[in-house]
Amino acid sequence: MHRIRQVHGSDVVVVDAPAPPGTRAWVVSGDGGVADADAVVAVGTGACVVVLTADCGPVALGSPEGIHGAVHVGWRGLVAGVIGTAVETMAALGASAVVAGLGPAIHRCCYEFGMADLDRVAQEVGDEVRAVSASGAVALDLPGGIRAQLRRAGVPLVVDVDRCTACGDDDFSYRARADEARQALFVWSTGPGTVM
Ligand SMILES: [Zn+2]
Repeated sequence: MHRIRQVHGSDVVVVDAPAPPGTRAWVVSGDGGVADADAVVAVGTGACVVVLTADCGPVALGSPEGIHGAVHVGWRGLVAGVIGTAVETMAALGASAVVAGLGPAIHRCCYEFGMADLDRVAQEVGDEVRAVSASGAVALDLPGGIRAQLRRAGVPLVVDVDRCTACGDDDFSYRARADEARQALFVWSTGPGTVM
């Protein structure tokens, strides 16, 4: 299992071998420290990649070649373009067609946002992020922004659990309940054509 230290940016790290069993398996950067990144892309079977979320969007990426990735996307990641960077990284490694899955994330119903901040996000990401919350306030549509960026990257969203982390009790939410636990998205490949 390969983990990264998530920092709401656009950096992508690549791993090309399974992590040693029983290790914490942080991906190490060039200077020997834990890699700061919000997407981890793996080449080859056996390498399981993971991101942790509690309101941000966990995005799984797969390809017929078995190149796969996990992306952590909040509003900062949308603005930074981490989805496009991850897809470009997979393509550069030989992925001919990338598909995506989206796990539980905070939805517009619960994600009230300041108008000025929303304007700034919409300027970078598109008007798909503009929404209204359940109580009628200005809100950010994070899944809408993720879908828009996947569409622009030419990546079909083939699985969408379509669940708001803040509404129900089934998921961890930092914003709604200050949960310290996180959802974990694991992505791995057992060979070309099969990404779990
Ligand atoms: Zn909600």
